[in-house]
Amino acid sequence: MRWFTYPKRSPFSPLSQWLRAQSQAFKSRIKSTPLSLRLSVVLIALLGTVLVHPAQAFLAQITPTAPQLGDTITVTMQSDAGGSTAPQVRFGAKNYPAFSMGANRYRTLLPTTPLDKPGPFTVQVDKAGESRAFKLNLKKRWFPTQSIWLPPGKDSNADEYEFDQVDAFKTIVSPQKFWNGPFRKPNNGPVTTVYGVRRYYNGVFAKDYFHRGVDYAGAYGSAIVAPADGRVALVGREAKRFKVHGNCVGLDHGQGVESIYLHLSRIDVKEGDFVKAGQVIGALGGTGAVTGPHLHWGLFVFGKSVDPTPWRNQGFN
Ligand SMILES: [Zn+2]
Repeated sequence: MRWFTYPKRSPFSPLSQWLRAQSQAFKSRIKSTPLSLRLSVVLIALLGTVLVHPAQAFLAQITPTAPQLGDTITVTMQSDAGGSTAPQVRFGAKNYPAFSMGANRYRTLLPTTPLDKPGPFTVQVDKAGESRAFKLNLKKRWFPTQSIWLPPGKDSNADEYEFDQVDAFKTIVSPQKFWNGPFRKPNNGPVTTVYGVRRYYNGVFAKDYFHRGVDYAGAYGSAIVAPADGRVALVGREAKRFKVHGNCVGLDHGQGVESIYLHLSRIDVKEGDFVKAGQVIGALGGTGAVTGPHLHWGLFVFGKSVDPTPWRNQGFN
């Protein structure tokens, strides 16, 4: 965890310099104290800074401090500037909305994928005309590879309709936040293909392909449960032109976070339903383009497929 603290305009006053020195000393001294105590001491130190500069402090916390390909990056912003304008976060070539997390506190989740370029990157935060840039480094990560050999001239002949439906689903950004805490696993079967697997087709590296989710090889007909609360925003059926995804369900967890469940044998929900974490939404199957029955679970942040593993482990509150 790293806190970036920036003065707004004027240099710090001697008093605030002293306070900052004190908070630094606090931080190094408290390394050996219990976490709860540490957090409250850091909080007190930061509040001290904010109180001394009622119109000059702007804080951003970015985690993880050393993200790797596929990670979801959390940007938490705190400004005492007041007003109701939410900050905008610029990452790569895109702007991401920030959502209120309480008094003058905002949060944005940023997606990274195996297709991103590792190396230095900038997260820029704009709030009410003020702009701050935070520099981080995106770490390279090794992903397993698969070799697929297809007979020459075989065309997938996929129907654009289903991809358009799924693309529209992935662009949903609901301002409410429905999920809470770590995601549950959607099926009890073993994981057979992890997130991010890269492929060679007939010996040629597919540079735009990566496995956009996690596969679970549970028993045919076994329960698929919602890993978190959400709204059913997509129901696709193999009989209604979903030839590749098969029978599928898409959940909107709010604030740009969506998840998708493919190849189901049965669908137990309908579009517009609200589901709770742990609720059965369907059954594992082998519909769509599959070589055998399994669940494909994909997780999207602002339309990009991120690694669901950190969402399952520590979660994002
Ligand atoms: Zn899959």
